[in-house]
Amino acid sequence: MLERVVVPSRLSLIQRGRQTLGYNPDLNTWERLAEDTAEVLRWLRAGRERTGLAQHLARRFGYTSGGATERLDQILKWCVLRFLLYLEREPVIRPGPPGPRSPIAVYWIATQACNLRCTYCYQESTVARSHELTTAEAKNLVDQVVETGAKVLVITGG
Ligand code: SF4
Repeated sequence: MLERVVVPSRLSLIQRGRQTLGYNPDLNTWERLAEDTAEVLRWLRAGRERTGLAQHLARRFGYTSGGATERLDQILKWCVLRFLLYLEREPVIRPGPPGPRSPIAVYWIATQACNLRCTYCYQESTVARSHELTTAEAKNLVDQVVETGAKVLVITGG
């Protein structure tokens, strides 16, 4: 498995405090990552020698040698299923037609404020950020999104 996986060329690992988010912009997929999963993706993305990865996991996270190999296999499969890694080759993603293009959808994370504390919240929403938009600014933003020609505006967050 380790030798067969391919790292997406634009894979991003976004750090928020102690949490890492894996993002594959080519397929617009993202996932919150366990610490050892983030470490595996960091290692692969850096192009380090793959044969040293299981040993590195064992040292860093205290796995036994066999445990590290097993955990590494689980991580690789999980990443492939969630499109954070590819198997064998990177797919050809056809570019859209030439010329100016409109976004299909715009996601706006309107606020960080939330009175819930869901464990799976990748936003880690708690209180509003100091620079969130006012109502007037928000209306202006909606006008700007309409001007781009986007078909969908998703308002989310909080
Ligand atoms: S923003 Fe959504 S997912 Fe996050 S804590 Fe609030 S309700 Fe839960």
